[in-house]
Amino acid sequence: MTESSGSSDLWNLTLQHSPIGMALVAPDGRLLMANPALAGMLGYDVDELTSRGFQEITHPEDLAADLGLVARTLEGEIDSFRLRKRYLHAQGQVIWGDLSAALVRSRDGTPLHFISQILDVTDQHQQEERLRRANADLERERQALEAIFETVGVGLLLIGPDGRYERMNRRHEETMRLPFPDGHDGHAGQLGHVYGLDGTTPLTKEEMPSQRAAMGEEFDDYAYWAGEDPLTRTAFSTSARQLRSASGQRLGAALAYQDITDLMRAIQVKDQFVASVSHELRTPLTSVLGYLEILGSRNDLPAQVVRQLRVVQRNALRLEALVTDLLHVGQADEGSLPLRRGPADLASLTRHAVEAVAAVAEEAGVSLEVDVPDRLDTVVDEQRMRQVVDNLLSNAVKYTLRDGSVTVALSEDDGTVRLTVSDTGIGIARDEVDQVFDRFFRGHEARDRHIPGTGLGLDIVSSIVAAHDGEVTLESRLGTGSTFRVSLPLTKG
Ligand code: ADP
Repeated sequence: MTESSGSSDLWNLTLQHSPIGMALVAPDGRLLMANPALAGMLGYDVDELTSRGFQEITHPEDLAADLGLVARTLEGEIDSFRLRKRYLHAQGQVIWGDLSAALVRSRDGTPLHFISQILDVTDQHQQEERLRRANADLERERQALEAIFETVGVGLLLIGPDGRYERMNRRHEETMRLPFPDGHDGHAGQLGHVYGLDGTTPLTKEEMPSQRAAMGEEFDDYAYWAGEDPLTRTAFSTSARQLRSASGQRLGAALAYQDITDLMRAIQVKDQFVASVSHELRTPLTSVLGYLEILGSRNDLPAQVVRQLRVVQRNALRLEALVTDLLHVGQADEGSLPLRRGPADLASLTRHAVEAVAAVAEEAGVSLEVDVPDRLDTVVDEQRMRQVVDNLLSNAVKYTLRDGSVTVALSEDDGTVRLTVSDTGIGIARDEVDQVFDRFFRGHEARDRHIPGTGLGLDIVSSIVAAHDGEVTLESRLGTGSTFRVSLPLTKG
């Protein structure tokens, strides 16, 4: 570039008013002239700035690169250069500048000065830096998720909004061969060797976990068996969550498959064990009770022996009740509970149950209130319904403190029999209410207070009520009391 004197006014005007920092820099680095924009950008006034060399206002780490380009330009290798570099502000902070420098030579080629234009790109640089950091964070997160996706001990599957399999981890890929030995078409709902918890009923398309998730359902711990051979079958517990964009649009679903075979087999073994032990205990116990009865009818025994025999008999009866409960559990497991239905008066059944528990209630200082009609005829398995009322009543008394009360109400309306047993007892924690009907479940409060129990009573209640096509519900508050409500369809004989 050569200088033209005709344009010097224009050049000066541009220099003064340009929003871009501009300077004339001597080949040795002295600033011959600087415009207000550059002075403002670096925090000096114009005179202060022109007394400095560009080396002074350049960040030391960027100096070498700048000097290198200056040298190459002076040597004639290049005419101009562009460099993003750091400047030092008068107050010490770093200013990022986008520098364009062009060398002006005299007619004989001697270097006169550089015309430098410097655009302040600090904001842009900070934005870029933020973006770079955000991208690095995202990438780290992606890598961490990827590692988790592949290393967790659960099968993971992502399906699209149309039910197509979009992604699965290796673990899930491996277990897919069990239900689908001939391959899978990559769409939710394909039928395979997948069975319900009884191990024999194949799941329908609508019951397949992938199909349920594809239809928009969310669920937890959905258990089933997979695999053709009953001996090598695997049990899975599956959970599903829907994926949505920030605007709420459905993106698909995520499913997690956990292998729970060991747990299921352990439960089977435990149930078989409970069933066979209770069966084996029953026979000798029946014999013990029979002989106790014979002994009880003798009147030649010393009074002390009679008292001792009564203790033995009471405990043998308790043992028998326990064995009966355990046997019941075994039967309920083998499918629906066999019922011996017959006409029964639930009102008198309830009154008898109340009478049976009255002595225990009195000893415990718990009052009993009864609201039962004269008669309530329906068709039920009387013995089992008695078990329902007995279990609810004995729990209510057992879990109620001295001076509390238990209320039993029976009624019929619109073809439905309603039995309510409520108490002012210790109550059940909110997060345990859903579990009290589970087999062997015992509440925290009951355990903490060392109130004896097996956790079988409510499991028995719910299985008997279900076998009668009824329903049992619970409402409870810790420290306030509990209300159990049984409803059964009224059946006329
Ligand atoms: P068990 O009474 O032998 O422990 P159940 O199956 O009858 O077994 O009851 C299960 C659990 O439910 C009990 O351990 C107790 O924590 C809770 N529960 C049942 N009935 C009541 C009640 N009326 N009040 C408070 N807690 C109860």
